[in-house]
Amino acid sequence: MLHIAIIGSGPAGYYTAEAAQKQWGDNVRVDIFDMLPVPYGLIRFGVAPDHQSIKGVVRRYEQTALSENVRFVGNVKVGQDVSVDELLTLYDAVVLATGAPRDRQLGIPGDHLGNVHGSAAFVGWYNGHPEFTALAPDLSGHTAVVIGMGNVALDVARILAKTGDEFAGSDIVKHALDRLMASNIRRIIILGRRGPHQIMMTPKELGELGHLSRATPWVDPRDLPDQADDALLEPGIRKSVTQLRSFATISESRRADLPLEIEFDFFASPRALLGTGKVEALEVERTRIEAGRAIGTGEFYLIQASLIVSCIGYQTTPIAGVPFDERAGRFANDKGRILTGLYCVGWARRGPSGTIGTNRPDGFGVVEMIAEDITSASRKQGGRGFDALAGARKLNVVTFQDWKKIEVAEASRARDGAPREKFVDVAEMIHARD
Ligand code: NAP
Repeated sequence: MLHIAIIGSGPAGYYTAEAAQKQWGDNVRVDIFDMLPVPYGLIRFGVAPDHQSIKGVVRRYEQTALSENVRFVGNVKVGQDVSVDELLTLYDAVVLATGAPRDRQLGIPGDHLGNVHGSAAFVGWYNGHPEFTALAPDLSGHTAVVIGMGNVALDVARILAKTGDEFAGSDIVKHALDRLMASNIRRIIILGRRGPHQIMMTPKELGELGHLSRATPWVDPRDLPDQADDALLEPGIRKSVTQLRSFATISESRRADLPLEIEFDFFASPRALLGTGKVEALEVERTRIEAGRAIGTGEFYLIQASLIVSCIGYQTTPIAGVPFDERAGRFANDKGRILTGLYCVGWARRGPSGTIGTNRPDGFGVVEMIAEDITSASRKQGGRGFDALAGARKLNVVTFQDWKKIEVAEASRARDGAPREKFVDVAEMIHARD
């Protein structure tokens, strides 16, 4: 019997468990740990609440979770409740699937000012992550700047722009919906340090901005490169650029009709945040592109704004004793192997890029590697050993069956048309199980 511990119950974790089942069938036991009492990581806390069809992928993870040789071990913080070294003595392989839950820092003067939030915090707030429930962003001002031109920036801009009706069927948490409905924001600027040809946004997600009921996107036609140059782009980006071109043709009257505008500000690098206590303005330097890089031109301007959300990427949280690549913001690893017996997958391996599905081959890859590394029969205790340790430490472990109770309780308190009203604090989640 082979014993595998997977740390993190998001997509990378469940795809790895699925791959382990395919590889070893009944000869493997998998424990999937999560620091929270609820599973699915990025799907619950990262995917936008109005993108329910994407969240449907959890049905696949649930099939894995409900199989006999896979357990969910929730409410256990690896690195605190149990160390990686302890897990390595109990399991044949430990796979870190902890994602990249920390914000990359802007690293500019003023980034500590009030109402400057990273996307991990801001997205965590509207998705009900217990760590960010109390964020309470101030939406009383007129202008918000969303820094970055990836899909997370699009999520944030769209959530800030939607009406109550547009959240029907979503699982946005009540504290966020209430605050958003009272928002005064009328201008959302999506700021990119490079140009339209360098955006990271995908066409479908970009297209959603064109269908909002009270907001219109706007691209200044002068920012668009020669249309002939679009032919040189990779097809996905070319489609996104075509979307941007359509935003540049939106009529003055349509823009004037709608109360909220989402403006794209290209060639604009954030240099400083200004304000007393809270942010009041963003200082920006115009850039030009040289060999694909943004180069400052020395021309500066100010944007008056009272909310800043920087969506510039994420980093993995280090775990005591695990080699970490500070520059890349993920575990130091060679194609997923940190050392024999200790592995990483998903964003914890390769950084925050790609789609949810990208994690599937990752999981299968790491399982192949484990199969190469582990050639002799196991003498490890696996889950039995962990249960003894958890008992001795009086850990309040949450099982998958417990989660199903929490899930039912969340569904039963949902507002009309919504799939669930999430519990946003750990004690509430555990209470729903008890
Ligand atoms: P991303 O796609 O890597 O985009 C990050 C953006 O931040 C880029 O435009 C980057 O500009 C900019 N940036 C980085 N450092 C900056 C700085 N110091 N100053 C100004 N701008 C800076 O990351 P993401 O949006 O966080 O998305 C992460 C992953 O999740 C992506 O693979 C994304 O597609 C995926 N995702 C998918 C969906 C969906 O499919 N619906 C939704 C959300 C996220 P440069 O290019 O100039 O570096």
